Amino acid sequence: MSLTATGASTRQWVEAAKPGIRSLRPYQPGKPIEELAREQGLSVDTIVKLASNENPLGPAPSVLSAMRSAFADLSRYPDANGFALKAALSEKLGVEPARITLGNGSNDILVLLAEAYLGPGLSAVYSEYAFFVYSLVTQAFDAQGIEVPSTRWGHDLTAMAAALRPDTRMVFLANPNNPTGTHFSQTELVTFLESVPEDVLVILDEAYFEYMAVPETMPLVDRFSNLVITRTFSKAYGLAGCRVGYSVSHPDVADILNRIRQPFNVNNLGLVAAEAALKDTDYLARSRQINQVGMAFLQSGFDAMGLMVIPSVCNFLCVDVGCDALPVYEAMLAQGVIVRPVNTYGMPRHLRISIGVQKENERCLEVLKAVL
Ligand SMILES: *Cc1c(COP(=O)(O)O)cnc(C)c1O
Repeated sequence: MSLTATGASTRQWVEAAKPGIRSLRPYQPGKPIEELAREQGLSVDTIVKLASNENPLGPAPSVLSAMRSAFADLSRYPDANGFALKAALSEKLGVEPARITLGNGSNDILVLLAEAYLGPGLSAVYSEYAFFVYSLVTQAFDAQGIEVPSTRWGHDLTAMAAALRPDTRMVFLANPNNPTGTHFSQTELVTFLESVPEDVLVILDEAYFEYMAVPETMPLVDRFSNLVITRTFSKAYGLAGCRVGYSVSHPDVADILNRIRQPFNVNNLGLVAAEAALKDTDYLARSRQINQVGMAFLQSGFDAMGLMVIPSVCNFLCVDVGCDALPVYEAMLAQGVIVRPVNTYGMPRHLRISIGVQKENERCLEVLKAVL
């Protein structure tokens, strides 16, 4: 038996993992600024990161001040029920608190849903080019993933409904979708919900909801008991580092998630920050405004370079660079600009570029032009 430096036989602890986990590929996040600074010997403040769809405005001052006032309580455990944040969400969204589940980011909720409702012999449906976490959590809990071919980079809801099998317990919809930025209408969503059996949970991931000018979807949870809507404070609310997300579902689904979540899955600062962020409607409006302006600027820059862009309603654009995108990504890194390759999604010629503030967008276009 060959031994590694730590004494375990080769790959023993990989082979010992549960089947789905053994063959899992980890999620590949955007490269952190500090990491690139270390690798390239650059100073952090010369680096532009447009790789994780973060809010380029930074956190709202009102949120920071609320967090500061919570420092003194850090020796206490958080409110495990998140009473104050749920009450604020309940009022804003017009749903009962019993329907709300708080998560350590909405990613946490996706994991909890898979843990509760997926397993061996069961399947989950999601679209080609959909957010990677859906396939990841499906596989992690040993269920089978059914990937449905996309149409024009978006979800083909008709094909997705047709792909459901008797063993299907969950469908993941991203509206809008990451990494493509595509979306479907509320009419299409309702038609889909009407065609899905009641015993299949439909997870509607609305991580970018606040960037879209669309009707509120929350009233649909009253009508469809199998609908679970997830949202996050990581994107338009500018709190990716705080890790707060939530779902709105049937109270029984919330009850089940509440049984398996970590009792303190959202920390003190996250709870306070999210509550303050909900109140700061000016910040949200400014975020949308900056995004609109930046989107138009980047779009016209890509047009001028003759590059095809997938139409997006999010805070990022997916652009076809016309060649293998990985060397382009690497060359941009060397110039201190971090974007996101999406080759792992089966999109080898695209880069996903988050919309930044004007200076960041200018720099990104400049460097991309030079590299190409
Ligand atoms: C960013 C993102 C999320 C969740 O992020 P959290 O930070 O965990 O809330 C979920 N779904 C999609 C499609 C996303 O892009």
